[in-house]
Amino acid sequence: MKNASLSLRLTGWFSAIFLGGFVLFGVVMWFDLAYSLRQGRDRTLTRRAARIGELLDATSGDPDSAREVRFDQLTDAIPEGHLIEVLDAGGKLVLPRDQKAPDFPWPKLTELPPRDQFGDVDYNGRVFRLYRRPRHPYVILVAGQLEDNRNMMARFTAGLTWAVPAMLVLCAVAGYLLNRRALQPVDQITATLCSISIGNLSQRLPVANTHDELQRLAETCNDMLARLEDAVERINRFTADASHELRSPVALIRTVAEYALRNPKVDTDSKEAFEEILAESVETSQLLEDLLTLARADAGYGNNVFEPVELSQLVEEAAARQRALAEAKQQSVTVRTSGPAWITGDRSSLRRLVWILLDNAVKYTPANGSIVVNLMATNSEVVLTVRDSGIGIPEELLPRIFDRFVRADPSRGEVNGTGLGLAIAKWIAGAHRARLSVQSREHEGSVFRVEFAVLHDAE
Ligand code: ADP
Repeated sequence: MKNASLSLRLTGWFSAIFLGGFVLFGVVMWFDLAYSLRQGRDRTLTRRAARIGELLDATSGDPDSAREVRFDQLTDAIPEGHLIEVLDAGGKLVLPRDQKAPDFPWPKLTELPPRDQFGDVDYNGRVFRLYRRPRHPYVILVAGQLEDNRNMMARFTAGLTWAVPAMLVLCAVAGYLLNRRALQPVDQITATLCSISIGNLSQRLPVANTHDELQRLAETCNDMLARLEDAVERINRFTADASHELRSPVALIRTVAEYALRNPKVDTDSKEAFEEILAESVETSQLLEDLLTLARADAGYGNNVFEPVELSQLVEEAAARQRALAEAKQQSVTVRTSGPAWITGDRSSLRRLVWILLDNAVKYTPANGSIVVNLMATNSEVVLTVRDSGIGIPEELLPRIFDRFVRADPSRGEVNGTGLGLAIAKWIAGAHRARLSVQSREHEGSVFRVEFAVLHDAE
């Protein structure tokens, strides 16, 4: 039950409460019915004894034979009339003169207290109710079977034993279906919330006009999404504005450093200082560009223009540009393609994606290492892999490697970087509905893989 869904748990509780209720109801009804039936039987016997008493009063002056005729007429008309006897105070049978049920276990008068009394006796394997009513100078004994009551109780008990489980199953099924139905909007809210990320914060949950908890939940979630959207928008705007505003001064610093370096009269110390300023400003410009790209991506205006793009050409171009750097480190860069690989995408973003992966492969692979770029195109997908024999990525960092500003210990390779390249690559892949993944082992190398789905015209 611990991991069961809410509808199952509610059904469990429902069923347990219903079962408890049914059992209690059944037990109370059983005792009530048994009591009522017994009371009814006793009232019937009391009425019969009263009628016999009235007859005795009415015939007190009649001769015995006339009295017996009236008694027989009356007892013949009463059900179980043969189980009625009138005794005198000494216990001698007065009416009928000949016992009609001689083997009935009539009690001896001495066994009974001198007052109204009920009791149960067994007769021919069946239980009978016996009523004794003193009526001076006589005692009236009336008996009646309890079998009908017993049968009725047995039928009631049998009815309960199948009705309770049947009702329980019915309640459990109905409860489960009702719960599922009632909780369906919660599933819809969950699914919609799961599909909302930083890229589509403008999405809202549908709000049904039901004036209940679910409407309040959806409205609260929508309010929260609106606040989040506003906050993210402000952060994006700030990042975009800040990177945009900083671009010009950094470009100016870079230009001034380049200009100073072109001066042949610059002394060695100053030259070193200007070179450092130039390197830092190049890196800072890159950081600002990356931040601007991501801020624009988050704001949803990445300026993507989707068109058919031949990927092998982009890969060859990027590899050619990287070869100069790779050669300086005596690295080999091999490109293998299976022919033209057409996908639909934004050319400049895709160029950036390929560049980031290749640039990282060269950056994080020591001298004499090898980089192999593979581009495989099939009818349904285009797969780009960039494999290097570099320093690899520590295992604990792999799950976060596409996050912003995540860098492995920079001292490992003494390589400069912003920690934003892979985050941009991930965004570009996402914008192309491609899957970007990595496999890496420290000190052995890494394989970055991008899987693009090929969309055909009909799709
Ligand atoms: P940057 O390279 O600017 O630091 P990235 O987002 O491109 O930022 O990469 C993030 C981190 O991932 C890098 O700092 C590096 O530690 C690790 N990394 C990326 N590519 C590779 C690779 N091919 N081999 C080893 N480590 C890599």
